Amino acid sequence: MAEPVNLYIVLPCYNEEEILRKSAEKILNLYNRLLDDQTIRPESRMIFVDDGSKDRTWEIICSLHRSNKVFCGIRLSGNRGHQIALFSGMVYSAEQGADCVITIDADLQQDIEAVPEFLKKYSEGCDIVYGVRDSRDTDSFFKKTTATAYYKFMNFLGCDLIEQSADYRLLSNRAVKALSSYKENNLFIRGLVPTMGFQSDVVTFHVSAREAGESKYTLRKMISLALNGITSFSIRPIRLVSLMGMIVFVISLIMMILTLVDHIRGVTVPGWSTLTISIWFLGSVQLLSLGVIGEYVGRTYMETKNRPRYFISEKTGVGDD
Ligand code: UDP
Ligand code: MG
Repeated sequence: MAEPVNLYIVLPCYNEEEILRKSAEKILNLYNRLLDDQTIRPESRMIFVDDGSKDRTWEIICSLHRSNKVFCGIRLSGNRGHQIALFSGMVYSAEQGADCVITIDADLQQDIEAVPEFLKKYSEGCDIVYGVRDSRDTDSFFKKTTATAYYKFMNFLGCDLIEQSADYRLLSNRAVKALSSYKENNLFIRGLVPTMGFQSDVVTFHVSAREAGESKYTLRKMISLALNGITSFSIRPIRLVSLMGMIVFVISLIMMILTLVDHIRGVTVPGWSTLTISIWFLGSVQLLSLGVIGEYVGRTYMETKNRPRYFISEKTGVGDD
């Protein structure tokens, strides 16, 4: 049987007073079960990250801690968003000596019964285990279609997202350390994790409806997350400008020939040929130049992120005892 692990579960909370106690009770059940069958060690903890809530969330977290020390909390100084809340919770857990960290939404919409499966994959040697939802039945039609289209679009842009993966995943201690070496401010964890490498696997889970409270992901937050994903992983939109420039340039050549033919046949009003040719030609030159400039700006942007180039996943012969 595998050694018990020191597991930390990170739950980001933003104005979750209505559901927090219910979730805590559920997760405590799971904790006790895992403890009984010696899957996890007694040092394991649940970390609630209060993402600058305006309601009683932090008081509830404190009272949960008083009732049972397996509940812990950290509080961000303001609302920094889901991604940063997750990130801070994971980094904190790794600092506390967690062997692995699982992140899950505080509303526990994701099925917590997948946790033992995550841990099984971890004991088999995975550093990253992705939770992949089995369906999107509980989502509204709007969310379902936009999310699916978004994943397709991101793949087209060259960012390899794991399809239908949510921010429900397990990272080993060293995977969290690797993730924390990404210095960018605009975090899109879903996109970053696959770029790290390491051995990984997938666990499917079911999503149920929210039991209390409302979604804290407003449309504005969703759009900002989506734009973050696109702009932090791809400079392909800039390339599309260059491509457009080239297409317009070809059109301008065709227009030039057509206008000249018309001009020679004498079926145009004076001045029309020169105007038409100039508009198309200048337009294409401008678009092309923008694309060229954009290419440099884009590269500068990518370089300023100072992303780590590689992570060592195994070593032999050096630093061994
Ligand atoms: N959340 C957060 N900061 C925010 C918005 C949301 O930490 O600014 C948390 C929220 O408390 C929840 C998780 O992110 O634990 C997912 O949010 P929610 O359940 O509202 O999103 P949905 O399930 O509707 O996509
Ligand atoms: Mg939710």
